Amino acid sequence: EPAYSIDYAALLNEAQLQAVMHEGGPALVIAGAGTGKTRTLIYRVARLIEAGADPSKILLLTFTRRAAREMLDRASSVLDERCRKVRGGTFHFYCSQLLHQYHEHIGFPQNFTIIDTADAQDILQMLRAEFRFDKLKTRFPKKSTLQNIISAAINKQLSLYEVVERGYDQFLNHIERIEELASAYRQYKEQHRVMDFDDLLVRTVELLQNEEVLQLVRGRHQYVLVDEYQDTNAIQAELVRLFTPASGKVMVVGDDAQSIYRFRGADHKNIMRFPELFEGSTRITLEENYRSTGNILRVANKVLEQARDKFEKKLFTKREDGELPALVKTADTREQSRFVVQMIMNLREQELSLGDMAVLFRNGRDSFDLEIELNRRKIPFIKYGGQKFSEAAHIKDVLAHLRVIVNPDDALAWNRILTLIEGIGPKTAADLLNWLATAGNPYELAASGLVSEKFKAGLLGLSQLLIDLKKNELSPAEALAQIHAYYKPVCEKKFDDHPKRLKDLEAFEAIAVNYRDYPQLLEELALDPIEATAVDTLAGREDETPLVLSTIHSAKGLEWAHVFLIQCLDGVIPSGFSVDEPEELDEELRLLYVAVTRAQDMLYISYPILQHSNFGDVFTKPSRFLAEMGESLLEPWLLVDESELPQTQLPEASAAAPDTPLQLGDGTQAEVTEE
Ligand code: ATP
Ligand code: MG
Repeated sequence: EPAYSIDYAALLNEAQLQAVMHEGGPALVIAGAGTGKTRTLIYRVARLIEAGADPSKILLLTFTRRAAREMLDRASSVLDERCRKVRGGTFHFYCSQLLHQYHEHIGFPQNFTIIDTADAQDILQMLRAEFRFDKLKTRFPKKSTLQNIISAAINKQLSLYEVVERGYDQFLNHIERIEELASAYRQYKEQHRVMDFDDLLVRTVELLQNEEVLQLVRGRHQYVLVDEYQDTNAIQAELVRLFTPASGKVMVVGDDAQSIYRFRGADHKNIMRFPELFEGSTRITLEENYRSTGNILRVANKVLEQARDKFEKKLFTKREDGELPALVKTADTREQSRFVVQMIMNLREQELSLGDMAVLFRNGRDSFDLEIELNRRKIPFIKYGGQKFSEAAHIKDVLAHLRVIVNPDDALAWNRILTLIEGIGPKTAADLLNWLATAGNPYELAASGLVSEKFKAGLLGLSQLLIDLKKNELSPAEALAQIHAYYKPVCEKKFDDHPKRLKDLEAFEAIAVNYRDYPQLLEELALDPIEATAVDTLAGREDETPLVLSTIHSAKGLEWAHVFLIQCLDGVIPSGFSVDEPEELDEELRLLYVAVTRAQDMLYISYPILQHSNFGDVFTKPSRFLAEMGESLLEPWLLVDESELPQTQLPEASAAAPDTPLQLGDGTQAEVTEE
């Protein structure tokens, strides 16, 4: 027995301790939200290192790289800096590293670039036009649908035919064309040395079919740990199996009730298949929730009760009951934003910091109105989910210049930077690209003989920039500064809101200081995109921890003292797309369960009663999932000035929880501090 410096038994309950000390082979820790699964992994990392494991031989797979970083930070603070040597990251990130390292075994060149979903769709759009599938008599799937179909086939391990038959049967008459296109898409990616997100996983599975590579990779791991296992799909489960060393030392933790990535092929029953994949596995369950008050857990349990596919257990806690979670009805979205901001300011005046609170919502767009109000009141916030910084057009423009340096075959990036030049349209760009493919020195584009006076100067400018970027061994930040100077006039012409975009580019240069070289910058941004509004915060105000706004999907695994769940409407959660499909409805329930279980002390669920539209005001419908929650579970707070509402009867739906007497006021002074 090694002598431990940490008193594990005092810091963990019995089941957690069993997991942390587990010595045998494969182990599955399955437990509800807030029961300490992540904490258990953190202490297991510390304990393994204390017991002599080589930190660089521990592989910790998490859903985001941010999560891995935070876990290793915490492990270092309970043990020491050795914990930072643990290999932590996402499946995609780790796969990308393996592909770079062992590429020659599958005959793939090292300097591939990673394309995002929008890039993938652009390629499909181009191929669709090339095959003239846009000129057919009956409708052919559009680029986003094509991308969904192809990706679903890979992630759910189905044939294209099966995917189309199950989800897109109106396109069944085109199945052969879809297959043709999918295969052209595959060829295109190989030819131009680009990989989409799915390729990273699929290609790694392929790579590991090579026995020699498999042994090398397994030799890198003494221990494999996976958090949020409920959101892995079949390919990722296979990767875990391939990564696991012969000793079978793999531990995965998860909660089937929190599986919310069905659209990526995750299946909440996957976690139950772990014992089939790993013979002789141990199963450990954690039962006690340490995060939330009793009253919050009652709401969470009530959410799960409504699932068609039943879950075994209920959450319980030794914590006090606490406040009743609030069901807040506001006149409209505006009022909802004012309520949230006012409440946040009240809490901040008490002992809480902004970092103790979060606002959650189903879709990225659900917070737009709130963002305006927060800006108006000068409350710093950071938003997770929704469009990412590196997905914005101006950032992609700038990055495309680096992409062609790293991978001169990246035609998509070439097309992007060529068409930025005045006088070059898609047709000319295609000609130039053809010239590149055959005659090939990209840095002498201007001498290609295809140059017309119209864009000669522009092309010379680009050539010069690329020569500089290539030759001068610049740091990523220096390179971005050069591209920025070149791109500034283009940006001013291209975008009306160029001042904001140019500011983004400045912030970007500051961030780029943290990267070693171009490939690393491109790779990390593709795999771990900077969240859109993080940039404002990174560039400026560091004096106060910002308030977190987050989609529910991006809030996974996190916790805050006070949680606001806004826009809790039918058609939002559950989403309009899911209401006809029982399986999808269950997924939406699990999503609501994830949202509710983020709260430690207080939960505020809100929705607007009215929605303004071009056709006049309409009454909203509150989420159907709230219908069964009476006043014993949720305390109704009605923050509506009655005179602002149309003088008609409210529809049945919003009478689900009876109203308290009206509180009059303009909403900004909402009387909500009845603690
Ligand atoms: P989720 O399903 O949301 O990811 P989880 O099961 O990973 O939740 P954790 O985030 O690890 O749960 O733990 C929830 C909270 O409970 C954390 O603040 C954690 O520190 C605390 N906690 C867990 N176990 C204990 C314990 N034995 N003693 C004290 N606090 C604990
Ligand atoms: Mg967790």
